Amino acid sequence: MKSKHACRGQKAEWSKGRPCPAWLRWLGRRGWYGLSWPWRWTQLAWWETQGQAPIVVLFYHRVSDSPSVPWTVSTGAFQRHLDWLAARFELVSLNEAQRRIAQGVNYRTAVAITFDDGYAENCEFAIPLLLQRKIPVTYFVTLGPILQRKPFAHDLRFSHPPWPNTVAQLRQMAQAGVEIGSHTHTHADLGRIGSRERLWDEVVGATLRLEDLIGQPVRWFAFPFGQWRNLHPAAFRLAWEAGLRGVCSAYGGYNFPGGDPFHLQRFGAEEDLMRIKLICSGEPRYQGRFPPFPYVQPSSSAQPLPSCGGLQG
Ligand SMILES: [Zn+2]
Repeated sequence: MKSKHACRGQKAEWSKGRPCPAWLRWLGRRGWYGLSWPWRWTQLAWWETQGQAPIVVLFYHRVSDSPSVPWTVSTGAFQRHLDWLAARFELVSLNEAQRRIAQGVNYRTAVAITFDDGYAENCEFAIPLLLQRKIPVTYFVTLGPILQRKPFAHDLRFSHPPWPNTVAQLRQMAQAGVEIGSHTHTHADLGRIGSRERLWDEVVGATLRLEDLIGQPVRWFAFPFGQWRNLHPAAFRLAWEAGLRGVCSAYGGYNFPGGDPFHLQRFGAEEDLMRIKLICSGEPRYQGRFPPFPYVQPSSSAQPLPSCGGLQG
């Protein structure tokens, strides 16, 4: 599906479609990080002093040592990511990230971990590790393949497409404290949907169905593919009106205190820890490169956030 997989948008963010050999990217990242290291950590320290430290939201898809689809991070790399992040930053939930953005002040750089789609193997290593280390995680799932017990449509071109989670796994995760979020019924490109009914079904209908299945409120929604062209202003409004707490995109972008607390922008993680280092230490090339998606906020920032079933935290 070529660049349509912007949900796994890291490639598009890095190369804008121009192929870059893996070895050159590997070398370039390390050289650039080494050169810019003093500047970027000084900048982070300054932001923290000013109460303007960023809140970085990362998204993963699948953690497994079987690389049957490209959007897989190995278990060893995932553990290294967590070790590096936990040693330097606060690892927070999306709810806490939102609170700091809305409050307008954040004195310590924070990182929130999310997953998209819902791959069964995540329950073998990644989720147990996050729970064991008490690291908050939001886990966005696409319901259709889970209910139909078949691989995701975007994985069918691979010889061994991985399986999605089961409903039982979602319930177990929810009961264990994982925040389960909604990622539509069909992993549709919402930017191309013209019908309000269809849009409602993918955003609100899927969320309500997910709540029924796991027996808990669903408070967050993530746009499939998540690039600018895959977002839809009406979907923001539908999510707000349905009482969702917030929505996530996937085109990159930092969230700063005082910004939009309803729309959290995310960066895609990949195997190479150096990409995480570059992003989370305030990559200068990314600052200002990903302007927030323009949508008409249903209410001014002076008004309270939408209710979410009375739940806090
Ligand atoms: Zn997705």
